[in-house]
Amino acid sequence: MFLGYNKLMNILDEFDTIAAPATPMGAGGVGIIRISGEKAFEIINKIFTNPEFEKGKFKHGWIVDNTGNSPVKIDEVVILPFFAPNSYTGEDVVEIQCHGGVQVVKNILNLVLKNGARLAEKGEFTKRAFLNKRMDLSQAESVADIIHSKTSDFAKVSMKNLSGVLKEKINDIRNDIFEVLSKITAGIDFPEDVKEPEYDYLKERFEDIISQIDKVLKGANTSNIFRQGASVAIIGKPNVGKSSLFNALLSLDRAIVTDIAGTTRDVLRETLDLGIPVTLVDTAGIREDEEVSTVEKIGIEYSKQSLDEADLVLFIYDASKGLDNDDSEVLKLLERKKHIVIANKADLVTERSGDVLYISALKGEGVEELKELLKQKVCDINPENLDFVTNTRQQECLRKARASMEQALLSAQLKELQDLISIDVKSAILALDELTGELITDDILNNIFEHFCIGK
Ligand code: GDP
Repeated sequence: MFLGYNKLMNILDEFDTIAAPATPMGAGGVGIIRISGEKAFEIINKIFTNPEFEKGKFKHGWIVDNTGNSPVKIDEVVILPFFAPNSYTGEDVVEIQCHGGVQVVKNILNLVLKNGARLAEKGEFTKRAFLNKRMDLSQAESVADIIHSKTSDFAKVSMKNLSGVLKEKINDIRNDIFEVLSKITAGIDFPEDVKEPEYDYLKERFEDIISQIDKVLKGANTSNIFRQGASVAIIGKPNVGKSSLFNALLSLDRAIVTDIAGTTRDVLRETLDLGIPVTLVDTAGIREDEEVSTVEKIGIEYSKQSLDEADLVLFIYDASKGLDNDDSEVLKLLERKKHIVIANKADLVTERSGDVLYISALKGEGVEELKELLKQKVCDINPENLDFVTNTRQQECLRKARASMEQALLSAQLKELQDLISIDVKSAILALDELTGELITDDILNNIFEHFCIGK
């Protein structure tokens, strides 16, 4: 069931006061407990030695438990008051900054709960911020992205969404669609007074809207790589230097390097931070050989599987021996896969040829160049030029909107009844409203916030 804002606001009226630690549970300088809701100040006034708060002024004092015969001091704290609607959630919010120990945070939280708050669910503070219109859904989702960022680059681009870059772009596109829809509707509703828009005008507008959607979707693959990381498999025959390259890229000795063919029998995985998280997979040498041991065969199967799963394959051969038939067979497997051909052991050759990257894994030559090339190949666009970060849910909404606009464009080309065209145009608007959260199901909403942590 879809809920409009009004319905959501009714649910909001029933909201109780929630509390949770906003900092991770562990030993640290400070611990923060956040309370949000109508009773936030009522609760803090019952347990704080220095009540009565003013806007923008923090207060120092003690948290005390007054439930027994005599008051018990729990901790010395600083209180930050935020009055509705000027808070993260849009409700009254109180943040208690106490000493950062697991037990002291627990003691204060228990006291807050005893005095009328309920433990917040995952992402409930941000969910309230969204329901109170402090942010749209794309901003709320970026909060989770920022918290879970695996690389500093992703944290930076997610920040763009928090500041509303995606939200503004989607609103612009929606406004453009709405403007055309208004013209179509006016022509239909008041045929005597308003002329229906020309089909050429409609085609031009629809094409422009589609290209705007494409601009946002352009970063989809790179966004997904940023979020999930890219899987990069290193393949090649035994002894060409796969493990050596694996180690050189990671600057460690994780893989066992020997000169006996077939030493890498299992698949090794390590994560490399290239601005995007890259999972590097060192596979067993690919070869169809009757005499290989069972263990090695399993390893070979793994490498074919890794090949299927990989976003990019680093195909490596021994430059001192050149490309042989086996290498060419493997290269055929890679035809439809993004790949880089690497000639290793470049230190052993004097002549270089072809469209391949020469490196020496042993000496570390060409490794930095390879990292750069790898990043370029994996991402469709340079992460630094990534204007719009989207997640798969948002991409699905954008694709739905795009499909509806494509249909509308086709109908305009065929000069179909504008009444019919308006149906597709309206569907495109609904898809964008789903993206920003103007129109959203309860299930989708819960699913989004389930991926948050408690206290956010
Ligand atoms: P793998 O079986 O493909 O994983 O190959 P290894 O990484 O185990 O390397 C096989 C042998 O080639 C080892 O003796 C390495 O020291 C050697 N080797 C690897 N890379 C280079 C290189 O760039 N130059 C030279 N000269 N030897 C290398």
